Amino acid sequence: MVIRRYEDPLMWTDEERASFVERQTQWALEQKRRCHRASDNKRRALKAAGGNHTAEDIRQQMVSQSGACAYCGADITQKYHVDHYIPLSMGGSNGAENIVLACPSCNCAKGSLMPDVFLRKILVRGLNAHVVTEAEEMAAVEHMGRLIFGKAVAA
Ligand SMILES: [Zn+2]
Repeated sequence: MVIRRYEDPLMWTDEERASFVERQTQWALEQKRRCHRASDNKRRALKAAGGNHTAEDIRQQMVSQSGACAYCGADITQKYHVDHYIPLSMGGSNGAENIVLACPSCNCAKGSLMPDVFLRKILVRGLNAHVVTEAEEMAAVEHMGRLIFGKAVAA
């Protein structure tokens, strides 16, 4: 069997490796930009989803989450994203009952995944950079449990 050079990173030249890293970095940055950009699709989806939440709803949500990301427990008092707990694409509404606050990293990584699927993803695959220690993992599980049982999941 012939192993092609490009399939084996150990055989890459420094130049090839640098170009690979560069492309991966660009890809990651583009994913990030895509998440942060308020697209027309997103606006349309928000309109179609129905429901509404106010600045006061968000303030209350911040208090009930004790200033921590709903998924990983990171401090979000400086910077947070409004996350649709049940994704709009899965029939979730834009109302206060379906709003949680997440750190930008979790919100972007969650995308249109259902919350339990996302939790498995960050715990099992460790895709979220915040979830690194056992204590933080436990905090994430605890947070998730509170959300699952404390939040009206019915759409
Ligand atoms: Zn987070």
